Amino acid sequence: MAPPRTSDVLVVGGGVIGCAVAWFLAREGVAVTLLERGEIAGQASGAAAGMLAPLAEADLGTPTGRVFLRWGRHSLERFPGLVEELGESSGVDPEFRPSGLLRVAGDEAAAAVLRERAAALGEGLVWLDREEARLLEPQLSPEVAGALHSPRECHVRSPLLVRAYAQAAARHGAHIEAGAPVMALARERARVVGVETPAGRLTAEHVVLCTGSWTPSLAAGLPELPVAPVRGQIVSLDAPDPPPARILWGGSTYVVPKPDGSVVVGATEEHVGFDRRVTAEGVRSLLAEAARWVPALADASFRSAWAGLRPETPDHLPLVGPVPTVDGLLVAAGHFRNGVLLSPATGEIVRDAVLGKGWAEPAFLPERWMRPSPSAG
Ligand SMILES: Cc1cc2nc3c(=O)[nH]c(=O)nc-3n(C[C@H](O)[C@H](O)[C@H](O)COP(=O)(O)OP(=O)(O)OC[C@H]3O[C@@H](n4cnc5c(N)ncnc54)[C@H](O)[C@@H]3O)c2cc1C
Repeated sequence: MAPPRTSDVLVVGGGVIGCAVAWFLAREGVAVTLLERGEIAGQASGAAAGMLAPLAEADLGTPTGRVFLRWGRHSLERFPGLVEELGESSGVDPEFRPSGLLRVAGDEAAAAVLRERAAALGEGLVWLDREEARLLEPQLSPEVAGALHSPRECHVRSPLLVRAYAQAAARHGAHIEAGAPVMALARERARVVGVETPAGRLTAEHVVLCTGSWTPSLAAGLPELPVAPVRGQIVSLDAPDPPPARILWGGSTYVVPKPDGSVVVGATEEHVGFDRRVTAEGVRSLLAEAARWVPALADASFRSAWAGLRPETPDHLPLVGPVPTVDGLLVAAGHFRNGVLLSPATGEIVRDAVLGKGWAEPAFLPERWMRPSPSAG
């Protein structure tokens, strides 16, 4: 079915952010059309490990880290109710698992840093010595110095979560279209009135850019929206027997147990532009790190490897809000390492903006980067 010529809201991009935005709006009776040029969850959102881990991810030393922590906790609290509602509405099970997470220390110095983190965060984080950690997770290496147990952190299967958002949005009347590229924004003076597609112009009251790493290309000629790709490679292995019950995270590598008997091991962080290849060095480094923390993984059967492009902003907070000087245009992009986690908060903020309830988080507003471009307006 061709997309409607006009909608209340046009969402560009069918990753976790675009699909969450579509769902939160459609649930309120807003007429939404979502256009995705490739497949739904075909980019970063299909590649993600699916961790919902704000306590492990937060950079506690910066003000922006504390903003992230506030919204990460808010989103984490939403997940149990969210996945239940999405599952009922869509028939898709996002494989939500309230597993908990162990941050593992390889030596005393790393252990001291983690103990300090526990003291700063509270949140029921508990320091475990080597024996206690290995009692909880027998697959951990006997070389570890200890681990920080975070019982509240969880994970989902990211591509399934995206599909659940999209199908639940469709059940609430949203038009979701894959294989539908947006070539440009349709503008009339200082207002965006819709988008240009190969099938012609589609109009809407609001256009929301949920275009991840590709956001600057559609926003050409508008005030700057600084989002850039950071490649993450990730591998899937057969889980050892017994499988880890929790997410195990040592150094910059994590091992996430999945319900299909696999573990995913991620992820590299590489500034290589839009190159989405899986490389020999990427896979080698992940496998070496995984076996350092969980020695049995050295003997695990290899399943697959893939890569995705995280949308990074300079301060590692997303851009969620209206684009200044351009009426009718909103952006929800730049969620870097935590778009899956932050998807409920982002959907709620965009919903409230469209419904005229104002903006919930000033630190996410795109205007923090604005130097108007010469051709803007
Ligand atoms: C290896 C890896 C592991 C990760 N692990 C986690 C994790 O454990 N937890 C977590 O919370 N986050 C994780 N992330 C980060 C997370 O994947 C991203 O933050 C999130 O997916 C961003 O979602 P998005 O919808 O903004 O972007 P994307 O998923 O990239 O979606 C953007 C979409 O816009 C579409 N698009 C672009 N331009 C156009 C156009 N002109 N017309 C139509 N469509 C267009 C693209 O095709 C794409 O599908 C991970 C990322 C990677 C790469």
